[in-house]
Amino acid sequence: MEALIYPDKANLYRLPWSMNDNPIGWVEVTDICNIQCKGCYRLVMGEGHKPVRQIKEDILFLKKWRNCDNITLAGGESILHPHILDLIKFINDLKMKSIILTNGYALTNSLLKDLKKAGLTGLSFHIDSTQIRPDFKKKKLESELELNDLRLKYGKMVNKVGLYAHFGITVTARNYQEVPKFIQWAIDNIKLINGVSLIIYRGLPLTEGIEYYANDKKIDMKSGGLGYVVDKDEIEGIGITSKDIYAIIKKHFPDYDASAYLGGTIDHTSFKWLIGNIILNGKGKTFGAFGKKTLEIAQTMHHFIYGTYLVYPKNRFGKIVFLMSFFDRSLRKALSKFIRYALLKPIRFFSPINALGIGIVQAPDLLPDGRVEMCDDCPDMCVHNGKLVNSCRLDEYRLYGDLVQAKIVNEQGKQTILKNRSQVLM
Ligand code: SF4
Repeated sequence: MEALIYPDKANLYRLPWSMNDNPIGWVEVTDICNIQCKGCYRLVMGEGHKPVRQIKEDILFLKKWRNCDNITLAGGESILHPHILDLIKFINDLKMKSIILTNGYALTNSLLKDLKKAGLTGLSFHIDSTQIRPDFKKKKLESELELNDLRLKYGKMVNKVGLYAHFGITVTARNYQEVPKFIQWAIDNIKLINGVSLIIYRGLPLTEGIEYYANDKKIDMKSGGLGYVVDKDEIEGIGITSKDIYAIIKKHFPDYDASAYLGGTIDHTSFKWLIGNIILNGKGKTFGAFGKKTLEIAQTMHHFIYGTYLVYPKNRFGKIVFLMSFFDRSLRKALSKFIRYALLKPIRFFSPINALGIGIVQAPDLLPDGRVEMCDDCPDMCVHNGKLVNSCRLDEYRLYGDLVQAKIVNEQGKQTILKNRSQVLM
């Protein structure tokens, strides 16, 4: 059997992002949504749309304390906010990029045109088979691929107005094997798509042997509350890590590689964020991947020139990226493969070259001893009561006023149901 290849830290650049110097600022503009996603991080608690004044204060806070290159507007469903255009304009006037995180369902061509006019950089769509939404043709989907037409519809709409388009799915035990097909879909439509993200599903296990506390009070998780509480059977079916996703992509696309990462806050072997870019032409022929030096130079130069680290580049680099092959071994290999390919038919030298960004995110893990491992220097921090908090755990503050803590309560003190790192959260 073919051996799987896993990421190696020696070949990866550790992104220089930190709490106070991080290109991403996360702002949730509403807790209202028009669909349902399994394991959603956000509860509808009746807060509704945040007042514009408060959102603008949060954006200014993030600019000041995070030194952001980009503000990601999330929710709930961010485009439902009645002042979304004003907010985009506000971010644009502050000379930051803006990305809207959306399920797409309420998106129209005319709204897209207005968003573009207001200065929006791009949209990141979450469309996957874990959702319940009115625009699915079937209630129960057998495969992630059944949604490709819907994704394509949004890709075309965004492309028409010339914005950045990104597509994300939640990876579960059920659709994990389909990850390569999802990547292939993005490769086939590279003219419309800039990147994809694969966010591993997380859940908080409801099972004997674990008790939960917040503010020193025991919490009864069964009686509702957090949207990501799952029972034991479901958790045992998860257990996927970012390394597994890397390995399955690498197996199907040997030219793929990751070039940068963020580790975890506890385990030195984790990869909580793995960022990579496949280089390819418009016909889906792949040549290689960005190496760590390209990411290092891009981050450093962007910081030197603009004062912030880089995220969501506005423009496609095309063949210019091959200039980095002076410094980057991985790009030298890609360039050499491209030249060999083009020499067979010299007209190919003129065909456009693209890069497909692939981001893998391993959400927080509950470790066997009950500690929770987060992403080191979390890029998706938001403002809550004047403090920066991990957006994936915001609901714990909203519901319980503090982070939830797990206590492993088995009798022997060592053997628990958490035999391995579970892909679970808190
Ligand atoms: S810690 Fe949570 S919010 Fe931060 S990047 Fe990781 S998953 Fe996202």
